[in-house]
Amino acid sequence: MPERADLVVVGAGTIGGWASVFAAEAGIGRVVVVERGLAGMGASSRAAGIVRAQGGTPATVALGRWSIDFYRGQATTYGTDSGFRELGYLILAVTEEDERLGHARVAMQHAAGLADVRWLDAGEAAATVGTLAADGHRGGSYRAGDGYIDPPRNVRAYSLAMQAAGVELRERTAFTALATTADGTRVTGVETTGGRIETKRVLLTGGPSLRGVGDLAGLRIPAGAARHTVAVLEPQEAFAVDRMPMVFDLTAGLYWRLEEGGLLFGWSDPDESPGEARSIDWAAYERYRERLAGFVPITSDLGLRKIWAATIDYTADHLPIIGPGLRPDGTAIDGVTVALAAGHGMMWGPGVARVAADLVVDGATSLIDVTDLGLDRFDAGGRSRATPDSVALPYPVAVE
Ligand SMILES: Cc1cc2nc3c(=O)[nH]c(=O)nc-3n(C[C@H](O)[C@H](O)[C@H](O)COP(=O)(O)OP(=O)(O)OC[C@H]3O[C@@H](n4cnc5c(N)ncnc54)[C@H](O)[C@@H]3O)c2cc1C
Repeated sequence: MPERADLVVVGAGTIGGWASVFAAEAGIGRVVVVERGLAGMGASSRAAGIVRAQGGTPATVALGRWSIDFYRGQATTYGTDSGFRELGYLILAVTEEDERLGHARVAMQHAAGLADVRWLDAGEAAATVGTLAADGHRGGSYRAGDGYIDPPRNVRAYSLAMQAAGVELRERTAFTALATTADGTRVTGVETTGGRIETKRVLLTGGPSLRGVGDLAGLRIPAGAARHTVAVLEPQEAFAVDRMPMVFDLTAGLYWRLEEGGLLFGWSDPDESPGEARSIDWAAYERYRERLAGFVPITSDLGLRKIWAATIDYTADHLPIIGPGLRPDGTAIDGVTVALAAGHGMMWGPGVARVAADLVVDGATSLIDVTDLGLDRFDAGGRSRATPDSVALPYPVAVE
């Protein structure tokens, strides 16, 4: 007898992991997750963990809020958590144009129901963050309820939740192809390195590898992959505090937060070519350190404690992909859903997973309007017709 499942999820990162839990909890039946390596070994265990509701569109505000509420409620629901810690987040304006756009963004966030974001002028921003210089910027938008999670702890949390929900995880088992009806309009199963699984529902995830997963499935998924680097500086007395707001220098794509008595900072370099990359670009490290020291002068003499680079997922408009699987000619394969958090899997991951599970189980979701989040928003060159999310790292505008 061939193996059967009610849902097969490809990829055991934070999107596939949480989506499998939500689908199982909704009563879909037997859920099997196939993971080519080990759970979390993609982007999900290597992230910086920044989580914010200060999104650049109403949909991403909603995804961030939902995800923060989820992280806050995890201990009660699942008996464990992802280590969410509320620090507050300041999104800096450096130029006059940044400030104009920042005020417009705050107005949009207020209209989207995020009432507790406010604008701090340069002096207020410096006083709120403590270690931030009062010059070199024009203040920024601030929300006290934003924070960060511990990414490896999140992998542990969804792995435990998968076990508790009865989800079957197949590690070291790669998805290799979709099986469909003869006319290609409906999925009938998946081929994996561990054999075939018959199913009427498949959720494709893959983070920075999603484009390759799409190729295996015969779908065109314009998901990008680029190097992202995170470094942690040696402890300093000024960072040995319970709370110091995180800061995002949006113009340069540089952010920082507390980490074990030191300072963690991360960046993506928009000038380098996209693609998988795990090596450290030390020239870029020096440039971003210098910029960081301009904002946080006490970092200039601190030693480096650790540094890592990993491949991050992105889309041309910085918005997630959540919707039906489409073939290159634009026709859907019934039963196939695609989900990507577009480089924001810590801050939007649970929300994206919830929406993906809703689409898989019910064909609809009440969490956000997904009209503009499907694959049909991209043209053949990977460009999007949607208004981009303005609060994002500066990746290339096209991915193909
Ligand atoms: C250095 C770095 C810092 C980051 N910092 C932040 C941050 O501060 N805040 C934030 O919100 N986001 C951050 N991100 C982004 C975030 O980590 C990702 O958006 C998120 O982890 C993506 O989750 P995922 O489940 O889609 O992908 P992944 O975690 O990459 O999981 C996809 C899984 O699919 C598996 N897979 C691929 N192909 C196949 C196949 N053929 N068959 C079976 N399995 C397959 C992979 O092995 C992998 O385990 C960061 C990313 C990086 C790299």
